[in-house]
Amino acid sequence: MNYRNLIGGAWQDTAETLTNVNPSDLSDILGHAALGDAAQINAAIDAAHSAAPAWAASTPQQRFDVLDFIGTEILARKQELGTLLSREEGKTLAEGIGETARAGQIFKFFAGESLRLRGDKLASVRPNVEVEVTRSPLGVVGLITPWNFPIAIPAWKIAPALAYGNAVVLKPAELVPASAHALADIIARSGLPAGVFNLVFGPGRKIGAALVDSPRVTAISFTGSVATGRGIAAACAAQLKKFQLEMGGKNPMVVLDDADLDVAVEASVNGAFYSTGQRCTASSRLIVTDAIHDRFVAQLHDRLSALRVGHALAPDTQIGPVVDARQLEQNERYLQIAQDEGGIVQGGARLIRATEGFYMAPALVTETTSAMRINREEVFGPIASVIRVRDYDEALAVANDTDFGLSAGICTSSLKHASHFRAHAQAGMVMVNLPTAGVDYHVPFGGTKGSSFGPREQGSYAAEFYTTVKTAYTLP
Ligand code: NDP
Repeated sequence: MNYRNLIGGAWQDTAETLTNVNPSDLSDILGHAALGDAAQINAAIDAAHSAAPAWAASTPQQRFDVLDFIGTEILARKQELGTLLSREEGKTLAEGIGETARAGQIFKFFAGESLRLRGDKLASVRPNVEVEVTRSPLGVVGLITPWNFPIAIPAWKIAPALAYGNAVVLKPAELVPASAHALADIIARSGLPAGVFNLVFGPGRKIGAALVDSPRVTAISFTGSVATGRGIAAACAAQLKKFQLEMGGKNPMVVLDDADLDVAVEASVNGAFYSTGQRCTASSRLIVTDAIHDRFVAQLHDRLSALRVGHALAPDTQIGPVVDARQLEQNERYLQIAQDEGGIVQGGARLIRATEGFYMAPALVTETTSAMRINREEVFGPIASVIRVRDYDEALAVANDTDFGLSAGICTSSLKHASHFRAHAQAGMVMVNLPTAGVDYHVPFGGTKGSSFGPREQGSYAAEFYTTVKTAYTLP
């Protein structure tokens, strides 16, 4: 299978391609992705620029029909597309199908949103003057997406961009071209006018950077690493270009003495290790009060040793492989650093399976402190660390002792502590007796501090980023 660029409604090959390999089975080649060049990304921006005015003038019904078509097809094909996703990214089949269904639901949600675009009409402070506040599209938006949610993240950027009348150029992560290509194929058949949606594969530092640097791209929405996000922020700021960043997390899961132990262990296993820990919302810091600490750690160890790590498509697999060799090496490097800094590491070995892949046993690092690098930097693997604390007050202080602020969880049966934590956890999303990962598709997603920049994604709040506000005064 060749994954081609989609530019101005035409599928285009490139001289050079990149091989798409299954991380569960390195002998399984999914296909070859185009490697776009400067001419192609410029042509995609041209196409989007030319198509933008007509799409900005489209009716809510036209937008609804397009987005509803896309959502309906994704949902109808969720088994097939979810299998493709799991094959290229390595999350389990259930997770791949779940992510695909979510992408379909996101398109359905924004189909509805395109009918609900609101403004305000206010009385002026001046006699007889009318004041109207409306939202307009931005023009061309550049979307740069990571590998860990190959269909859901493109969906939650593309759907609002189109619903609010923008043209799009998508630059997906090189590691996961198959899902982006499948999504683009559906979009290309949805009735959307040619050029409104464009897809260009290629390395981020060339193709992504060209999007960021183009004066004809009005805004950039990015999800990925902090380092790349900072570079994009600097480049956009220099041009006064609107941008939105979703970056890493170092999400705390607080477990208090009065927690239901089973609930706390399950929330931690799910939040820290499912999707191989490759989620920006992963519960990477487990902050546990003294009286429950040892029981919690013992039960968590039991659960981790029983988790089945294997081929993403095998029905009994609970944890798929790590996405690639570079990420596996990064995970191992962090375990070594944690050990060197005094943590006790259990698990984390490379695993041999019937097919050659990037398999790693889940790892737990105990006896850690908040100052250790394992508790300060995003690892992005099946690794969690445990920090022992005295009481709720210390737990909250440690939970907030981070440069990040995406998601924060607490397991407790105390309404008082749960309410206090909801109010005082420095995070964009707070979970009580639930994993830090796993969110609804119709409400805002995003964080505070170093995790996010700009307006929230998803739900009706997405309009903040994908539109600009106009205030009109009329003396009739
Ligand atoms: P990156 O931030 O490098 O990649 C994210 C996206 O940005 C990709 O599409 C990438 O393209 C693109 N990109 C890379 N460099 C530039 C650039 N200079 N200008 C514009 N776009 C660019 O993340 P990685 O995939 O390299 O992962 C590294 C680490 O980032 C992970 O270990 C993890 O810690 C973190 N991460 C966090 C995610 C999150 O959701 N918070 C998601 C993914 C990673 P391409 O990949 O094609 O080069």
